[in-house]
Amino acid sequence: MTGTVDGLSPFEAVNASFHRAADRLALSDATRDLLCGTYREIRVQVPLRMSDGSSRTVYGYRVQHNGARGPYKGGVRYHQDADLDEVRALASLMTWKTALADVPFGGAKGGIQVDPASLTAGELERMTRRYLHQVSYVIGEHRDIMAPDVNTSAQTMAWMMDEYGRKAGHTPAIVTGKPVELGGSLGREAATGRGTVMILAEAAADRAWQPEDTTVAVQGYGNVGSWTARLAAEQGFRVVAVSDVKGGIFSARGLDLGAVDEHLSATGSVVGMPGTDALTNDELLTLDVAVLIPAALGGVVTSANAERISARLILEAANHPVTPAADDILADRGVVVLPDILVNAGGVTVSYFEWTQNLQQFRWPEKQVNDELRRHIVGAFAAVRERAARHGSTPRDAAFEIGVERVAAAASLRGYL
Ligand code: GLU
Repeated sequence: MTGTVDGLSPFEAVNASFHRAADRLALSDATRDLLCGTYREIRVQVPLRMSDGSSRTVYGYRVQHNGARGPYKGGVRYHQDADLDEVRALASLMTWKTALADVPFGGAKGGIQVDPASLTAGELERMTRRYLHQVSYVIGEHRDIMAPDVNTSAQTMAWMMDEYGRKAGHTPAIVTGKPVELGGSLGREAATGRGTVMILAEAAADRAWQPEDTTVAVQGYGNVGSWTARLAAEQGFRVVAVSDVKGGIFSARGLDLGAVDEHLSATGSVVGMPGTDALTNDELLTLDVAVLIPAALGGVVTSANAERISARLILEAANHPVTPAADDILADRGVVVLPDILVNAGGVTVSYFEWTQNLQQFRWPEKQVNDELRRHIVGAFAAVRERAARHGSTPRDAAFEIGVERVAAAASLRGYL
């Protein structure tokens, strides 16, 4: 059964934002039906031979939401809660995100419903290869391109590329977020965090906030959270709290992120870092800071804690961390939420650069990657700011309007509408 937060499943929550945009754009019922549904959904059985000789069966998904603007594109997550509804929600977010970031892709997402911490490295590799094989009939470098997401990494992409290549021959553009040694792009590893910090810098400048006086709390210390914290601190923002699944740490003066990384690699967690105070993930969310950046899972800011959020600005580095009910409460309280499809679009934007480099068999220097990333992210931010000001709407409403409008235009030009 699909889990609900604030009475909505993840896909219902994303579609709530879609329908608000569709109302304001006065889309016809036929257009709504086409754009809020999914093109193709597959569920595959992944038999897994365990290292102790026993066997286990897990299930994987790939949902292709919309391909009007280009090949389906999106990550694959390994998580015990990654069910079909959640993967659908994430696939639809990719459609609106790629449109808003102005990269020529559609939206897709994959997932395997498994706790990867319960698997050895060998089991993970075998599971990844088998999943890729099972979905290989619906993907392709001009059809559907995979990437990392929660609990998957450059190594996961290397196994996927290798498995795909067994039949198709060397096809680096079948996945993005690969190791640089295998054709990955310079700058891809940091790209989602870098995009988030570009948005943070723009939003702070709009408010005339000086970085050194701007306190930031980051929930989640995986790829996105750790790069966001590191790059924000590098730009002078005062990152006072970070957390991982085991808990969080706080320092009013600002954390030394280099030391946090050392502590993490020595102990496996940020928790217990000398010279910091411990706090729970819940306490981190309601901390008295200027900016809160949820960078882990969806559905963490809800009607149960939205009244207690002290931050003035929330940047959704995770996908769908704020529920629609929480959005309303926060808007009433004057807390601005910058949405996921804008804030975390840096990842898929550099995935686009990686894909083009692979197709051209050519490598860009990192500066070119970061400069082009800035152009897309700052362009998307400016478009959202302009539309929100013109329509008196929230940044989320403005961002969805832009994304939905672009996808509707492409679908119409193709003759679907
Ligand atoms: N998983 C990332 C996201 O949610 C990146 C997707 C990609 O690069 O295709 O945006």
